[in-house]
Amino acid sequence: MNFDSLGLAAPILEAIAAAGYTEPTAVQAQAVPEALAGRDLMVSSQTGSGKTAAFMLPALQLLTVPHALAGNGPRVLVLTPTRELSMQVTRATETYGRNLRRIKTVSIVGGMPYPVQNKLLRMGVDILVATPGRLLDQMNSGRVDLSRLQLLVLDEADRMLDMGFSEDLEAIVSKTPASRQTMLFSATMEPAIVRLASAMLKDPVRISVDSQQAPHLNIEQRLHFADDMGHKNRLLDHVLRDAEMKQAIVFTSTKRAADDLAQSLLQSGFSAGALHGDMKQSQRSRTLQSLRSGGLRVLVATDVAARGIDVQGISHVINYDLPRQAEDYVHRIGRTGRAGRQGIAISFVGLRDRNVVRTIERFTAQPIPVSVVPGLEPRPRSASAPARPSDRPTSVRRHSSPDAPGRLRGSVFSNTASGVIVFA
Ligand code: ADP
Ligand code: MG
Repeated sequence: MNFDSLGLAAPILEAIAAAGYTEPTAVQAQAVPEALAGRDLMVSSQTGSGKTAAFMLPALQLLTVPHALAGNGPRVLVLTPTRELSMQVTRATETYGRNLRRIKTVSIVGGMPYPVQNKLLRMGVDILVATPGRLLDQMNSGRVDLSRLQLLVLDEADRMLDMGFSEDLEAIVSKTPASRQTMLFSATMEPAIVRLASAMLKDPVRISVDSQQAPHLNIEQRLHFADDMGHKNRLLDHVLRDAEMKQAIVFTSTKRAADDLAQSLLQSGFSAGALHGDMKQSQRSRTLQSLRSGGLRVLVATDVAARGIDVQGISHVINYDLPRQAEDYVHRIGRTGRAGRQGIAISFVGLRDRNVVRTIERFTAQPIPVSVVPGLEPRPRSASAPARPSDRPTSVRRHSSPDAPGRLRGSVFSNTASGVIVFA
């Protein structure tokens, strides 16, 4: 397929060609025709799949036809979770819209001086790219008129929710015309996103590409057998002191364990912090901010809290406790290897976690190679320590009661599912 068949205007096609794009990505091929037909969209696809053009090309097409109403207010509003992402979207707009005359794109984000923003807004805007907090500020001071708005885009909606922008989003959307077209983009379609979508979208077309199950080829997975919690702690210490380690997210199965582990890492001299659902939103934002700025090197988190975190410096994901669901494993390891970088995902596996590993391997259709740290080998009893460091854990399987595999699997899973920590 090529771009010509999508129904875009010639100046836009020329700009795409000049950018070196020869064919649409999967998400673009599916989203652009529906968007041009005026439909609301709910799109999930991985980072790097080309979502920006998927919404920006139809947005630019919209601007090739003059608006019926005169005015200064934006016709397209793109909301993004972070300043960096706003800048990225603004740059993409300039690339894709370079052959269109008189299109004004303005970025309104926190940290930028108000007088500059006020002036930009006064001069008139076609495409406004903004983070929710600062936009709401400017709206409340009467500087943004959304009455001409035709298209609203929520980019990285999952991250906006994670960062606590839910109420700001509601307040902003309530000030937009009901006649608007709305597109929501997210890496995941977790329940909170589906709720947001059902409140803001009208009969959306759902598009889902690059299933979460797709193998993460740029993430190296490793498995360490651990005898007990003390062994896990020594392995963790070793991994965190590795020269390759830039920043890590360590997953625990409970909030309490996240707090305790963060505390003990702090005492060992690591710049560590916890992130979980019991923390106040302001604390969570501060923690995420310091992760993003690099001040925090080790984040100890639970699954829900870490959903959608996109920090390029995360070199390691460590499953201190294995997740309860295979899907969670995929979400967890996807926190590293962002933006095309290499990442390392390490899982600590107890004697009784073997069947969880097997379920994960089946789900991802990828074996997780076993790794051993010299001096920190597991006791032979618990680990069936492999002869070769990169062996698949097949040797483990031989030991796992071949006459009754179903019973064993059932009991291990009910243990983890009820939150019992296997090694107390
Ligand atoms: P996402 O928002 O899904 O993470 P982006 O829109 O940021 O992805 O695009 C990721 C990268 O892919 C960007 O560098 C962009 O220029 C490039 N890109 C997007 N669409 C295409 C395409 N059709 N052909 C080639 N490169 C593309
Ligand atoms: Mg994007």
